[in-house]
Amino acid sequence: MRIEKQRVQRINKENTLFQVEIENGEVYSAKKIILATGFKEVLPDIPRVKEFYGKSLFSCPFCDGWELRDRPLAVIANNQKAFHMAKLVSNWTNDLIIFTNGSKVLSLEEQELLKSKGISINEKKIAAFIGKEGMLEKIQFEDETAVLREGGFIATEWKQAASFDSSLEYTLNEQGGIVTDSWQRTNTEGVFACGDTRIAGPSQLIIAAGEGCMAAMAVNGALIEEKFNEEKQNA
Ligand SMILES: Cc1cc2nc3c(=O)[nH]c(=O)nc-3n(C[C@H](O)[C@H](O)[C@H](O)COP(=O)(O)OP(=O)(O)OC[C@H]3O[C@@H](n4cnc5c(N)ncnc54)[C@H](O)[C@@H]3O)c2cc1C
Repeated sequence: MRIEKQRVQRINKENTLFQVEIENGEVYSAKKIILATGFKEVLPDIPRVKEFYGKSLFSCPFCDGWELRDRPLAVIANNQKAFHMAKLVSNWTNDLIIFTNGSKVLSLEEQELLKSKGISINEKKIAAFIGKEGMLEKIQFEDETAVLREGGFIATEWKQAASFDSSLEYTLNEQGGIVTDSWQRTNTEGVFACGDTRIAGPSQLIIAAGEGCMAAMAVNGALIEEKFNEEKQNA
């Protein structure tokens, strides 16, 4: 096995083989392709958000909820994710405020349910996150008021990380993840996908690793099957 560290720029299928072109112009041929190129998170455009993301602001309550438990927390989401995320984060703290950054995204029914669980809603436009060395201290609003918070969860958008040109016509799901069956096969013959590139949403390392293992077994099985069929035809 050889690991090539350069980025893939183009993948096309010619007859039965895939042609994979990397950034130095070299082209490799392959019988099968496993896409494991992950996704990119796009943070909302709020001043200083990058200073805090990954240190006291996170996107996945399953990954980082324990570390932020029992603290004054924020859910920052200007879309429908606000309600769902608030329910998950409420499992980790009794001091939770949803910040919708100027949007009205919660129905009256959702607002009442949240308030009945002690969760407040703040719809003011956020001016900046304030704190030191990535540790959030407060959220500052455009009207110059502020609310003290020590951390929280922020709704991000997800985009495919791979930017290569391709004529492979696999299907994407509503979130932009590559659709596969349980053997990681896409609907393009010979193309498999695993991990975040398939999920395009909150994920876990162990899921990506497990799917990588499934994809490897599926490719191995398919290659053996093809070899047997070729031998049968030539016999
Ligand atoms: C802030 C944050 C916190 C997280 N915390 C946790 C946690 O606590 N626990 C947990 O289990 N999971 C956590 N996750 C999720 C976890 O990191 C992912 O689920 C996992 O890394 C997905 O693995 P992957 O191999 O599918 O994709 P990735 O790890 O994204 O790997 C994809 C690789 O493909 C490469 N690539 C992309 N395009 C090309 C190209 N054109 N050519 C060549 N290479 C390319 C990329 O450079 C990258 O190396 C977190 C994620 C984030 C963003």
